[in-house]
Amino acid sequence: MTEPKPARPLDVLIVGAGFAGLYMLHRARQGGLAARVVESAPSVGGTWYHNRYPGARVDIQSMEYSFSFSPALQQAWHWSERYAAQPELLRYANHVADRFGLRDGIQLNTRVSGAAFDEDIERWIVRADTGETWSVRFLVMATGPLSAPNTPAFDGLDSFAGPVYHTANWPHEPVDFTGKRVGIVGTGSSAVQAIPLIAQQARELTVFQRTAAYAVPAHNGPLDPAFEARIKADYAGFRARNLRMSGGFGSELPPNPVSALAVGPTEREAAFEERWRIGGFGFLGTFHDILLDERANALAAEFVRGKIRSTVRDPETARLLSPKQTIGCKRLCVDTGYYETYNRPNVRLVDVGEHPIDAITPTGLETHGRAYAFDALVLATGFDAMTGTLMRLDLRGRGGLPIQQKWRAGPLNYLGLAIAGFPNLFNVAGPGSTSAFTNVIVSIEHHVNWIADCIAYLDAHGRSTIEATEPAESAWVAHVNAVAQRTVFLTCNSWYLGANIPGKPRMFMPLLGFPPYADKCADVANKGYEGFALA
Ligand SMILES: Cc1cc2nc3c(=O)[nH]c(=O)nc-3n(C[C@H](O)[C@H](O)[C@H](O)COP(=O)(O)OP(=O)(O)OC[C@H]3O[C@@H](n4cnc5c(N)ncnc54)[C@H](O)[C@@H]3O)c2cc1C
Repeated sequence: MTEPKPARPLDVLIVGAGFAGLYMLHRARQGGLAARVVESAPSVGGTWYHNRYPGARVDIQSMEYSFSFSPALQQAWHWSERYAAQPELLRYANHVADRFGLRDGIQLNTRVSGAAFDEDIERWIVRADTGETWSVRFLVMATGPLSAPNTPAFDGLDSFAGPVYHTANWPHEPVDFTGKRVGIVGTGSSAVQAIPLIAQQARELTVFQRTAAYAVPAHNGPLDPAFEARIKADYAGFRARNLRMSGGFGSELPPNPVSALAVGPTEREAAFEERWRIGGFGFLGTFHDILLDERANALAAEFVRGKIRSTVRDPETARLLSPKQTIGCKRLCVDTGYYETYNRPNVRLVDVGEHPIDAITPTGLETHGRAYAFDALVLATGFDAMTGTLMRLDLRGRGGLPIQQKWRAGPLNYLGLAIAGFPNLFNVAGPGSTSAFTNVIVSIEHHVNWIADCIAYLDAHGRSTIEATEPAESAWVAHVNAVAQRTVFLTCNSWYLGANIPGKPRMFMPLLGFPPYADKCADVANKGYEGFALA
């Protein structure tokens, strides 16, 4: 066994080189801190490095899903499409790394395996799978809300004779399905993007669906130059208006303040049609109460089911594709030709909701006493969201407390940024924050700015540690759940609740409403970090 290399002192170690890690490194350096990013992948880009399945693209418009911290960057960068595809997003991440001279602070191909807080020296001792260790004052987990892929423990998965692809771990060389029979498991956002393109290439595509998805059209296309020019003429104003939106985006199409229940059927239908024509997440804002009132929600859901029935020619397939749960309760999908794909003669849908997959076999899959044969298997089975990356680490706080024990009943946290018992550790875009309900780049910039300001405050006030208190943490978790209770989000099984992972404790993880959240975080800081213990 090789001797562990000696711990190297740093102010800040940042785990992950996605958008969060890149911006955190930039801000830390601006603050004069010795900082380093450690990333397991061979590249920066995070989500947009790993998820390169056919059709992978952002579903918040690119003019919004981009950094705002640098006016020069947002003026210089040109997006080719309304919703950028994965290769362009990856180019953007690389551009950011180069433009801000970040590369020399990023160590790739290095997976952090664990970290423990040493109470005597008040530093985190961080270990990587390379044998390296670092001794750091601050540990920033920029590990991503959706970056721990979930592979269900299907019986016989290893026995499948053909290739198995996970959408979140897609090969870097082109995958050619021409002439192949393909099976795909899952119908969440990634599957909804991939299915139309795989169907165009494969000889036969069989989709195994547990829960039908609601998808609204993206109407993607080249970025309108007039729109780009208008936004760039006042990008700061556009960003500021978006910061006042619940999701940190969508100011061009704000929610209609009217209730879906306050208008008659003709007016309601026309309103839904108009938002459907525009496309994207704005559909959920056709009326202000779609995510708040189950009766309003049912009207929006039925409108989408009507679209499915009028699009999909086979009535039985249309019935199976029609979701039963409240709309928006699981992440809404934004699609390009998803439902139309089921009219292709080479595509069939198999419902595994009532009768789950029994086993993967060498030649395909068995469910409900039937065998389905295919040459390649695609798993679009999502992520162990929000907590997966931390729970897979040997992460220990005060007294050696493992994160797995701390979070055994759910991810306790304060402001989504800090964990009691884990001093000087910050979580970016994690559970308890608004990240999953926002344009995540907005949440990332907000968190990174808060963390950088917090470290500067500690230094300016001669403090060495900051730690969330348990009462503040309990109150925060109760608040996040109380907000969810006023919505439709608790009416279905979703990854927001941890329900997609067997055995994961059920706790509603994301917080709805970016503006009040940002106000609360600012208020906490202005009050000298209320709810935290500083030493
Ligand atoms: C397919 C897909 C589509 C998405 N679309 C949208 C969208 O339209 N709009 C939106 O707002 N958000 C979207 N998201 C969410 C997306 O994750 C965020 O927008 C954003 O990219 C997160 O950036 P991040 O830096 O926080 O995390 P990530 O980009 O996930 O980066 C985290 C990095 O940490 C690394 N890492 C994790 N653990 C370790 C470890 N132990 N050691 C070393 N490195 C580690 C990972 O390799 C990864 O590179 C999407 C996510 C997916 C998966």
